[in-house]
Amino acid sequence: MTAIETGAASPGGARVIGTLSPSRAGDFMTCPLLYRFRVIDRIPERPSPAAVRGTLVHAVLERLFDIPAARRTPATALELLGPEWDRLLAEEPELADLFDGEDGADVEAARAEWLAEARAMVERYFVLEDPRRLEPASRELYVETVLDSGLQLRGYIDRLDVAPTGEVRVVDYKTGKAPRADFEARALFQMKFYALVLWRLRGTVPRLLQLMYLGNGEVLRYSPDEADLRATERKVDALWQAIRRAMDSGEWRPRKSRLCDWCDHQQRCPSFGGEPPPLPVVGGGPGMPADEVAPRDPRDDV
Ligand code: SF4
Repeated sequence: MTAIETGAASPGGARVIGTLSPSRAGDFMTCPLLYRFRVIDRIPERPSPAAVRGTLVHAVLERLFDIPAARRTPATALELLGPEWDRLLAEEPELADLFDGEDGADVEAARAEWLAEARAMVERYFVLEDPRRLEPASRELYVETVLDSGLQLRGYIDRLDVAPTGEVRVVDYKTGKAPRADFEARALFQMKFYALVLWRLRGTVPRLLQLMYLGNGEVLRYSPDEADLRATERKVDALWQAIRRAMDSGEWRPRKSRLCDWCDHQQRCPSFGGEPPPLPVVGGGPGMPADEVAPRDPRDDV
């Protein structure tokens, strides 16, 4: 179940100038045009098997802590996979067709391999830590605050652990593999984003940020300090200014990278010979996104 922790209002009642989550900030850093397709045009994307598997594994790890500590074993966790998958299917029946688009592939074999990988990820979690020795303070915590600039930050934190001394650990599960050293900063950006929100909400800097990669069983840990989080605040404010400039000018540049291989929008992307649709006219003018609470993004789970 999602818990919620929000700052009541912007400092001094200042006007909220925009809203940013780590995933959307990441989209803009990856490719401004991708941000446009997702946030401004809101073009639906076909759920990928990897993202849905991420959602399933996250659901199992969240539910695991509803079970009494002594029974949090690999066998118990694996037993949760079936019921959690049924629950996801009931919520989104179209997930039943997840593998149907695979040309000529054996749908049943693909489904079996997908499930086997989900099982392996759940088992790998137990190599990284022992959940019998943990009682998380929060799981699936929705956090939201407003910076001095008026920019609202929000997102979902997988797990928050609080030590008896009051020190806070922010934990995020990823079902992909740990990034190479030169991509670690990018992976940590999301965690520093959450740390900044928690610092603003609670007044203390989280002691540890922990990314658990269930794809290969690695853990990335980082202890932030105030200078780090002030730098993160400057970065998100600058990012918002860049987004604002793109909104005002209508110029959303494509940025080609290896991530294009997984992009759902190649057919409408100029870098692949496509043409973006006309910008929608929403609310206050062309390209202004509506301000609403976004659901958790399954792509963040991978
Ligand atoms: S295909 Fe690549 S360049 Fe084009 S929108 Fe997607 S991520 Fe951006």
